Amino acid sequence: LRGVVALDGPSGTGKSSAARRLAATLGARYLDTGAMYRAVTLAVLRAGVDPTDAERVAEVARTARLEQGDDPERSTTAVDGVDVGAEIRGPEVTLAVSPVSAVPEVRELLVARQREIIAAALERAGGIVVEGRDIGTVVVPDAGLKVYLTADAQARAQRRTRQDHASGRASTVDATLADVRRRDTYDSTRAVSPLRPAEDAVELDTTALDLAGVLAALVDLVER
Ligand code: C5P
Repeated sequence: LRGVVALDGPSGTGKSSAARRLAATLGARYLDTGAMYRAVTLAVLRAGVDPTDAERVAEVARTARLEQGDDPERSTTAVDGVDVGAEIRGPEVTLAVSPVSAVPEVRELLVARQREIIAAALERAGGIVVEGRDIGTVVVPDAGLKVYLTADAQARAQRRTRQDHASGRASTVDATLADVRRRDTYDSTRAVSPLRPAEDAVELDTTALDLAGVLAALVDLVER
């Protein structure tokens, strides 16, 4: 792969698994921007800061030392030198990540950091798959390919519940569906960088596709 593939869309569309596999298949790097918002959120919770207190959240984002890897085989996230890969997927972080990622200063800091990681990866490897909510609209508006993944809410809640169970977390489809809807509303109505497809994005509905199907559709779009 030469250049950037931007993958955006709400959670539970199969975006993360497909993005990672796509990058590995293409010999490209991989950036999970959601992990970065989650890492800031974890730092906020650890500091005892209220996730809706924008000023203090911004302060944590400025001072926490975040490291995000770009290896598709092993996507790593660390805060102040300690790996937080498992913790950032837990329910506390998932609940608090939306208000944290709606703080303009948090987004400014992370978007700048993401652009640095992308530039370094392009220099080293030539190509990178970047996954998030605002990659095609804000982070890399000139990406060579932009794909916006969708799926109906029920299918997304089922996917998320299966993932939770696979990582040993108890959850129900109903509770997950409520969480999916809550985050959709929050992410798509926030004032800064709301979740929406870029004008030149290709929309891919994954409701009826499994991982292999999503991957095949993406490879097809890259090769076109
Ligand atoms: O993709 P993931 O579920 O890990 O993202 C967690 C949250 O981080 C999203 O619900 C959204 O609020 C925020 N996010 C964002 N912009 C991105 C990636 C994630 O606002 N580029």
